[in-house]
Amino acid sequence: MPPTRLTTPPADPLQRPVQFLKGIGPERAKDLQKQGLFTVRDLIERVPRTYRDYSRFKRIAEAQPGQMETLRGRVIGATEQRLRGRMTLVKVLISDGSGVAAGVWFNQPWMAKRFPVGREVIFAGEVERRGAQVQITNPEWELVDEEGAQDPIHAGRIVPIYPLTGSLNPRDVRRAVKQALDLGAELMPQVIPPAVLARQGLMPAKDAWRAIHFPADDADRTRARETLAFEELLVLQTGIALVRQQNTVEAVGIAHGPDGPITRAFIESLPFKLTEAQERVIREVKADMESTRPMNRLVQGDVGSGKTMVAAAALAKAVDSGHQGVLMAPTEILAEQHYLNLRRIFAPLGVEVVLVTGSLSKKERESTLGMLQMGLARIAVGTHALIEENVLFHDLSLVITDEQHRFGVRQRARLQQKGATPDVLVMTATPIPRTLALTLYGDLDVSVIDQLPPGRKPVGTYWRPEAARWAVYDHLIHRELAAGRQGYVICPLVEESDKLQAQAATEWLETLQRRYPGVRFGLLHGRMKPDEKDAAMEAFRRGEIQVLVATTVVEVGVDVPNASMIIIEGADRFGLSQLHQLRGRVGRGQHQSYCVLITDAKTPEARQRMQVMQKYADGFALSEKDLELRGPGEFFGTRQHGMPDLKVANPIRDLAILERARKEAEALVKADPMLHRPEHAALREAVKSRLGDQFGFILVS
Ligand code: ADP
Ligand code: MG
Repeated sequence: MPPTRLTTPPADPLQRPVQFLKGIGPERAKDLQKQGLFTVRDLIERVPRTYRDYSRFKRIAEAQPGQMETLRGRVIGATEQRLRGRMTLVKVLISDGSGVAAGVWFNQPWMAKRFPVGREVIFAGEVERRGAQVQITNPEWELVDEEGAQDPIHAGRIVPIYPLTGSLNPRDVRRAVKQALDLGAELMPQVIPPAVLARQGLMPAKDAWRAIHFPADDADRTRARETLAFEELLVLQTGIALVRQQNTVEAVGIAHGPDGPITRAFIESLPFKLTEAQERVIREVKADMESTRPMNRLVQGDVGSGKTMVAAAALAKAVDSGHQGVLMAPTEILAEQHYLNLRRIFAPLGVEVVLVTGSLSKKERESTLGMLQMGLARIAVGTHALIEENVLFHDLSLVITDEQHRFGVRQRARLQQKGATPDVLVMTATPIPRTLALTLYGDLDVSVIDQLPPGRKPVGTYWRPEAARWAVYDHLIHRELAAGRQGYVICPLVEESDKLQAQAATEWLETLQRRYPGVRFGLLHGRMKPDEKDAAMEAFRRGEIQVLVATTVVEVGVDVPNASMIIIEGADRFGLSQLHQLRGRVGRGQHQSYCVLITDAKTPEARQRMQVMQKYADGFALSEKDLELRGPGEFFGTRQHGMPDLKVANPIRDLAILERARKEAEALVKADPMLHRPEHAALREAVKSRLGDQFGFILVS
């Protein structure tokens, strides 16, 4: 933070503290600083939230009540009235020959003095009619003196509106920004290299910064926004291109051999034929693994698309080549399920698979870790217990994380460090539009499993009010169970604690059991002991439990193809992607399946979510909707996903710009790998200062 008491401003005008601006004393400087605005440059980079178009003048006689209008005239007088109590009202009358209009202010008696009779002024705002007169309450205003006539900033033009609160009034801020621009716009770095600028038809930075605040017209504003969004995305994409280049050029990874007996036996042992999409993705993964370049691949596939098979194929290849592979899952239940699946596949081939979770006994843990360290166990499956320090591998060549969206970048990195530049595969069902995935996981290659195994029918999704609850359960019991199917009941999300949630699930099970005494219900929640969870899952898998009453512990990965119906209680408590994951527990076999969302959904947002769920079965369409509804900030959560803050660009709305920026960035880094050319100096500086810590790399000088 710059010191608040400086006697002489620093030489670089962009670094000059805001309190040196006219009209910004120590008080207002503090208010600006609270908004993160310390310097002239900060002010320039504070992009308006929105604009009001006060550029089109209307004759006063033609002003329409209810419309936002801009009027211009000479002051013919001002009145000040006392109202009830201490209220005052100032009216300033202007005339343009066609009529008379009033600007009205409450409790600002000093306003009268601002408008000497005879001065020409501009008033802008929503017009009201009072008898024969039109008036605007709290108008934006501008005195048309010599200077203002040339360059008005409050009215008589497109006027910027800033996201500022507190004691700052919009006029102060506009005036401060205007001064900042006059001081510093010319000095703003030209980040987009001139050649790119010309090719893309964008504005020079100094013009773009001026125009984003005080555009001449709509076209000017649009072009300025496009330019600055492009600049922001170019910086991001250049950072990504640099990382990719570094991965390609510098790091040497493990080159796995061609398919061996384990891989072949694995494929032959499958009870089904792989889908074309699975085969394609497996080919891409294998090619990466055979190359010396370390694999960094994201596999995206909707819930139920069969990502586990891709993981298994990669693990088989690691084993064939004499190395070890690891698969990390976000929950114990999912880790155990993967473990059972993989053991079923690999044990008959003589490949030892071990499970590492937090709930191993001390003895189990010792022997498991020993086997891994000595290389006797070739495949490890587990939770984040895998990243603990004392988990050591003999020769780890492949790291897979499942449901990547649940892990932070750092956790993935720590697992990676257990091998020497191992190949990395991350799998996710959070279906992000492909182009967007490139910004998010830009240092990764992306494979998409865009096909479900054959015979899957879309899950019928229905939103029902609480009043219809028992009709829904009757359907589950009398239709689905009667036909030999199974079902899930998900209890509402209780924010406060695991414990309350477990309790809610237990009570709900009792209620259901009383109502349907003949049905075999089972319970699954996060407070159960691991072997209790195991037993419940196993009983459900074997069909001994017909209806599993569960909390969201079943959210990811749980796979019982005979389950054909899921009832989600309190569905309004869940976000869209969570609902989609839960819905993905059914429709995993040949049977027509149903997902019923029970809620009275009181808020408009909740109703919208339920409608979106009913309408979209496809996770891709759904996630695009989700992005639209929530905006990228909330959708991606925090920095955890590696999404940098974007001030101007919106990666959804600006996909086309993003794509252009990506192409330019790739060409640029190819031509000038360290960005040493003088015309790339500003871009280099921007990449370093904006992305340095997020990408964990430095452009060595
Ligand atoms: P997800 O992508 O959600 O992790 P899974 O890997 O759990 O999906 O697979 C979902 C279900 O589909 C599992 O029961 C799996 O055995 C089955 N499956 C996977 N691939 C195929 C296929 N090619 N044909 C038929 N069933 C498949
Ligand atoms: Mg899965």
